[in-house]
Amino acid sequence: MTALGVSELAGLLNEPQLEAVTAADGPLLIFAGAGSGKTRVLTYRIAHLIESGRAQPDDILAVTFTNKAAKEMRARLEELLGPGRAPVWMGTFHSICGRILRRDGDLIGISRSFVIYDQADRLAVVKRAMQKLGLDEKKFPPNSVSAKISHAKNEMQGPAEFAQAADDYFAEVVSRVYPVYETAMRDAGALDFDDMLLMAVRLFQQDPTCLARWQSRFRQVLVDEYQDTNKVQYTLVKLLAEKHRNLCVVGDDDQSIYRFRGADVRNILFFERDFPDATIVKLEQNYRSTQNILDAAYAVIRSVAERAEKKLWTSEGKGSKVLLGQVYDEQEEADTVASEVRRLTNQEGYSLADIAVLYRTNAQSRSLEETMVRQGIPYKLVGGTRFYERREIKDALAYLRFMFNPADAVAFRRIVNVPRRKIGDKTTALVEAAAATRGVTIGAVLQEPGSIAGLTAAAVEALGGFRDLLDNLSAELEQHPLQEVIGMMLVRSGLQGMVADGTPEGEDHWQNLLEFKGLASEYSGLTGREALGRFLEEAALVSDVDGLDETRPGLTLITLHMVKGLEFPVVFMTGMEEGLLPHIRALEEPGGVDEERRLCYVGMTRAKRRLYLFHSFRRHLFGTANLNMPSRFLAELPEDIIERPAGSIRVQGGPGNRATVLDAVSRQPPAPAPPLVQRYQAGQRIKHRTFGAGVIVKSTLTRTDEELIVRFDNVGIKILSASMAPLESE
Ligand code: ATP
Ligand code: MG
Repeated sequence: MTALGVSELAGLLNEPQLEAVTAADGPLLIFAGAGSGKTRVLTYRIAHLIESGRAQPDDILAVTFTNKAAKEMRARLEELLGPGRAPVWMGTFHSICGRILRRDGDLIGISRSFVIYDQADRLAVVKRAMQKLGLDEKKFPPNSVSAKISHAKNEMQGPAEFAQAADDYFAEVVSRVYPVYETAMRDAGALDFDDMLLMAVRLFQQDPTCLARWQSRFRQVLVDEYQDTNKVQYTLVKLLAEKHRNLCVVGDDDQSIYRFRGADVRNILFFERDFPDATIVKLEQNYRSTQNILDAAYAVIRSVAERAEKKLWTSEGKGSKVLLGQVYDEQEEADTVASEVRRLTNQEGYSLADIAVLYRTNAQSRSLEETMVRQGIPYKLVGGTRFYERREIKDALAYLRFMFNPADAVAFRRIVNVPRRKIGDKTTALVEAAAATRGVTIGAVLQEPGSIAGLTAAAVEALGGFRDLLDNLSAELEQHPLQEVIGMMLVRSGLQGMVADGTPEGEDHWQNLLEFKGLASEYSGLTGREALGRFLEEAALVSDVDGLDETRPGLTLITLHMVKGLEFPVVFMTGMEEGLLPHIRALEEPGGVDEERRLCYVGMTRAKRRLYLFHSFRRHLFGTANLNMPSRFLAELPEDIIERPAGSIRVQGGPGNRATVLDAVSRQPPAPAPPLVQRYQAGQRIKHRTFGAGVIVKSTLTRTDEELIVRFDNVGIKILSASMAPLESE
């Protein structure tokens, strides 16, 4: 065990960090910029509380932003304190609330075996509710309805409050769906992600004795990334910390990027108001990045309207300049990233794990992924189709879910005829209707399929077979470890036969299922239903970023939202274009651009040594080609900290210069130019046979052609190929 006295800590922390780590009981706010050691301080504070005997591991509640962050913190604490001495209650808001509800949820009528419905499940429930109400999905996109319900829950509005506050037509429609949705969820014994938080708050509000018990238990409450708490989370923290008032929160208003989920940056700005006696510690020294990277990030964040001024500094020195490059299109962007990654790994001693490529929207990952596959560069994709969202995994999970909770209607519907066993929609509907009329679970109805009105003999038999399958598996669960039962389930249900069909894709899907089975080995210490319950809970809670497998080598592809809190020696930010960052949707909302600035700031401050900013002249996204202007944020960067490689304006070969952004970095002579002559220039007037007269806005030489952007007097902007378009000079 490492001694963690003040003198030892002093060697590991700077002065304000040490002050925060050793601060006495009472409310404590650590308010600081990116990379200044907030998470580190939180970790050391926990270690110090335990080491100094001020708290036992069991007294501490530590809230992290992702499960991955919790795992990292636990590993670090075990290093500092010795094995088994890290706090037991460490995790995301969702996992903590899940655990509280499993213990005490029954006090407000929540079954201990509730299942968690993810985004896709809840969308299915929303759709069913809309069908019931005869609402047209084309007019009212179920996704938007689902998002609106989610938002209401984050604002702690139940169906009645929501209906009362509904002030436009769409809200009125949602207010009709919301109660039907809630009933369906209750009948299925299911909670969605928002419910988990909301129900925990309800529990505490409705049962003061229960609240008092949890309040006494958690003598110390610590919350990382506090700037991204929404109303429910804020309420929960306040309730839990009310008794002992030992609440330590850590955050950075400049990194608040979850407004769309109801996060309210004012929670951190108002901490002083909520706790007038709070100790406040500010950290300004950054230990992550070079000064050039910090200056670039500051240039973007400084003009945010509502922010607490803080400027980061480092003793690391200026470091390399920030590389700003224009590429021709997303293909070239990906190629450029790939060759630069090769250069960094071959010549500069970086490993793939040191490198992250960031983007604003998931759709942008496709071209990057394709290129990495083609070039044989291993990568980890975070925030794309997640493991648990893959079809075969959802099927397998649904079997387990329905075994665990025979009321789970979404799971039942998913598997009753997968693989095919001649149970059609009509039969399924009759089963569900019987369960609803009798007021019992679907599983209970299945015990006597013959008693369900309106079924054919064939349907009764098919349902009987389905029931036997599940009953047998449930019986196995009492005898064998979960992992083995999952293996039996895959074979006996027919999922294996369905998936492993001999094709390479099938093989891939089967590998996923095997991996899924492997995950259950973690629960070998538990038995039967308990193991199953824990396994399902974990599966439902793994958030996107937790898909990051640390042990596999590979470059990280990740969205700006997911990358919060992480750090990498080398960061590429792609798609730094108007319409992408800032995103087009943000431009229309008040405060939207400021949120995008913060997102950009989060991205830039992930970089330790090298930061690359790419914008593309042209981008195919959502099926159309757009001409994108460089992001306004790029124009704000001070010239003396950025490097614009020669030729980057026309990366793919201006006349006499085929330099790419890479040449400037690798200091290699440019490759020879392609033998193409530019025929048109910006400002030149031309005439097109169909479009009429116009002026050239931009001409770019590509590998094989000259691409023109023309603003026509009558039809607006068009992109044309000079070799194909019927053009003449005016
Ligand atoms: P973010 O705002 O991105 O969440 P943060 O403020 O939580 O960042 P940390 O992740 O805790 O910052 O720290 C950033 C990096 O600096 C980490 O690698 C951390 O180990 C290192 N670091 C922080 N403080 C010190 C210190 N006093 N001495 C050495 N390294 C430090
Ligand atoms: Mg942090």
